[in-house]
This record gives sequence, C-alpha cells and structure tokens, in this order.
Amino acid sequence: SHVAPRSHALLLPFPAQGHVIPFMEVAHCLLDRGFAVTFVNTEHNHRRVLAAAGGSAATSEGNRSQLRLVGVADGMDDTEDRDNFVRLNATMKEAIPPQLEALLDGSGEEGQGEVGLGKVTCVVVDVGMAWALDAAKRRGLPSAALWAASAAVLAVLLGAQKLIRDGVIDDDGRPLNLEDNLFRLTESMPPMDGTFLAWNFMGNRDAERMVFHYLTSTARAAVAKADILLCNTFAELEPTIFTTGESPSAAILPVGPLHTGSGRRSPSRQELLGNFWQTADDACLSFLDAQPHGSVVYVAFGSITVMSTEQLQEIALGLEASARPFLWVIRPGLAGKLPASLLHPAVADHGKGRVVEWAPQQWVLAHPAVGCFVTHCGWNSTLEAVRNGVPMLCWPYFTDQFTNQTYICDIWQIGLRIVPNCVGSIVSKEIILELLQRLLSDDGVKQRVQKLKELAGMNMGADGESARNFNTLLEHMTRSMPQNG
Ligand code: UDP
Repeated sequence: SHVAPRSHALLLPFPAQGHVIPFMEVAHCLLDRGFAVTFVNTEHNHRRVLAAAGGSAATSEGNRSQLRLVGVADGMDDTEDRDNFVRLNATMKEAIPPQLEALLDGSGEEGQGEVGLGKVTCVVVDVGMAWALDAAKRRGLPSAALWAASAAVLAVLLGAQKLIRDGVIDDDGRPLNLEDNLFRLTESMPPMDGTFLAWNFMGNRDAERMVFHYLTSTARAAVAKADILLCNTFAELEPTIFTTGESPSAAILPVGPLHTGSGRRSPSRQELLGNFWQTADDACLSFLDAQPHGSVVYVAFGSITVMSTEQLQEIALGLEASARPFLWVIRPGLAGKLPASLLHPAVADHGKGRVVEWAPQQWVLAHPAVGCFVTHCGWNSTLEAVRNGVPMLCWPYFTDQFTNQTYICDIWQIGLRIVPNCVGSIVSKEIILELLQRLLSDDGVKQRVQKLKELAGMNMGADGESARNFNTLLEHMTRSMPQNG
C-alpha cells in the first residue's frame, strides 16, 4: 500500500522530549508507508538531536533518505529556560510561522539530509502548537493535530467551558465545591482529587492559571483547525472516552500506542529514537541480560521531574533493602543543581544496581528481566509500561501525571501509589520497600497488565483499531492532496 512518491508530510512537535518521541514514531510510520518526512525541531532541540546521533542524523539507508531534519529558531535567547513552556509557546508563536511558511513554500531541499523531497503536501502538528495550522490551512494542505497525552486529559480540556458553566471549576481552572476533596470532571471520568488536574503546576497558582488557559485554548484551536485529531492511546485503554460517542470525545482518533519498544529494535530505529534525544547507555541491556526473569526494579522519572538529594538517597536505601537488582535513571538535573555524580558511588557500589544518566527505556521495559517500573507516570512512560506488561509504582510530579496515576491505580489496577506521609515530605525507604514487595507479589496486577499488553499489541496489529485509524489518516493525507503546480 505505497502512496505516490510525492506525499510529503511536515511534522512539528512541541519542543519537549515527551512530544518529540511520539512524533518520531509517527515519522517512522509515515516513512514505512512511502511518505517523505520533514521533521521540524526547534534549533535548540535540533542541535541536541544531531549531537546525540553523532552527527549522522539523516542516514541515506533505505527509506530513511526520505527524511529531512530541520531546526527553526524558537524566539528565545540561548540562556532562557525552555522548561517554561507557556512562555516558550508565546515566543514560538511569533518566531516560527515565517520559517514554517518558507518550509511549506520551499522545494524540500533545504536543511539536513538528502535533497529532493519535493514540496510539503500535508502537515501533522502538536496540539500544543495549534497556531501552526494556520499556515497549512492557507495553502489548503490536509492537516492533523497529535495530542501527546491521554484522551481523558484532552477530553477534559475540550470540555472545560462546560465545567466552568456547571460550576465544577472557576474561570481559571480551579476546582470548586469539592466533596471529600474528590470531584468528577465528566460522567465518564473517574473521581479525582481536585488538586490533581492536568494544569497542576506544583501549587504555583499563577503558573496553573496560565497553563490552564494555554492548554484549553490550544486544544480548542486544534479541533477547530485540524482536519483530524490524533491521540496516542487505544480505545480499550480509555473506554469511557471512546464509547460515549459524545462531543468532544467523538472527535478524538486513537492511533496508539505509537511507540511500543518490543520487537522493533533495529539499527535505524535506534539511531532515530534511542539516540535521538540523548545518547542512551547501551550497557543497560547487557546488565538486564544477566538478571533473572522478572527480577529487576526499573526506576525512571522522565525528562522533567526534579527531586531532592535527600529523597534520592532514601530511594537508594529502599532499593538496597529490597535486595533486588535495579536499573535507575538519574539524569543530570533530576536532583536539582547537585551533580548526580555525588550520588553514584554510594548507589553503584552495592553491586546489584546500575545507575545511568539515560536508558533506552522502550527496550528496557520490553526486557523480560524487568519486574516493575517506578515511574513519574508521564504518558509515554505509562504507555510503554502498558505495552510491555510491566506493573508500576507511581510517583507523579505534576500536570497530567496525577490523572495517569488515577488510571493506573484505580481504573486499570496495574500499579500502586507512592504516597508520602504528608505533602512535600520525603517518602521513607520503609514505604518504598513495602510497596515494592506488595507490587511484585501481586498476581492480580500481573494478570491485568498482561491483558492490557495483549490489547495494545492487537491495536497495533494489521487489523487493530489503532492501525486502521492510522490508515484513515494516511488516506486523508493522500486523497485530499492538493494538485501541485
Ligand atoms: N526515556 C528514555 N530514557 C530514560 C528516561 C525516559 O528513553 O532514561 C523516554 C521514555 O521512554 C519516554 C520519554 O522518555 O518515551 C518520557 O516521556 P514521558 O511522557 O513519560 O515523560 P516526560 O519526560 O514528558 O515527563
């Protein structure tokens, strides 16, 4: 089912690692189906990607020659904090459109990689960058917007105006009238703690208000402007969202899990994904090879979470007390400004564990030696664990991670919560140890997560619903292709 060679998609993810990764997966799917792809990162991330790939980002091997990587200026100074994503969006909104227009009007021959891709014929942009759809619309290009978190969270953002009318939240997204501190955003959502909304920003009210307005307006704009709204999830994972048939959920097309990790390890994939954001430590996999089946505790908190060194030390002690082998990602920056190397000797010395700065997580979770995953509940991490049938110990940090935790622990029942004794306090090694033991000996959890793993695999199989939805996307992108010339 190859498409005409002139199909050429421009992909524009939000410049955060948890967004770039699923977009890379979309790029792979499109390349596999004969599309040319222009992948647009911010200059800042583009440099990072090239560095991680050892300078050989675009390979000329096979259909990868149809890939072009481009960096665009994001409008921030070199020294500015790019984790301030509300501000980053504001600067990008000004800086990127002219560069995007040039890419859309160009011949497809500028930037890194092979030349001669031809003009862009369709676009997929991040829901978080819905403003970028204007340029595509003006040119009559077919478009899709991809949401990189759960459909549940997207449905809440799209339904926010109704929640305000119903008095569930105020104009700035703050929950009202909490009963038992629990509330239900929609009939189809589980009851949740009111402090744990997708726009939860660690108790910073100003930031929460800004994040709420940014997320709700960009989600609405994406629905209004994109032809198709894609979500990296699958129907059985969020059944209440996909069976209501109500607006706004009805507009969401599940195409996930886009990245699965299992059975897809190839040099070109590794080059594009494993190494694309940050060079992963390959020794992780040989370490896992030497461990018994289901024995290893894998610990990783994604790319943004920050913890105190005191807390890290407590985790180290809990892991040590468990007497299990562990693989622990301590990325530079996890422990605030303290260099992670301060902690390494103490932990690594005990012989059973491995501490790395960045793991090839998709393959780690697919490895049979891994028994459980201590996670911050980022959506990508959650999906990767589901896809590989790995039980989770949940340690959310902010934004949608609390919603994901609710799904993991209460709806799917494939994980346990790590609850500190009081908010902001340290979780003791005793708690960590006890929860690890409970999780690893829970056969119910193992069965349920195994079941979800099968459903995820079926969705991505040839006749799976997510795979069929992806075909719907491809058909749209090709059928409504404008005539060149
Ligand atoms: N990841 C990785 N190696 C690591 C830690 C994380 O490859 O050592 C990947 C992980 O597989 C996932 C992504 O980084 O795809 C994290 O995304 P997520 O949405 O879970 O969290 P975020 O970083 O956005 O908070």
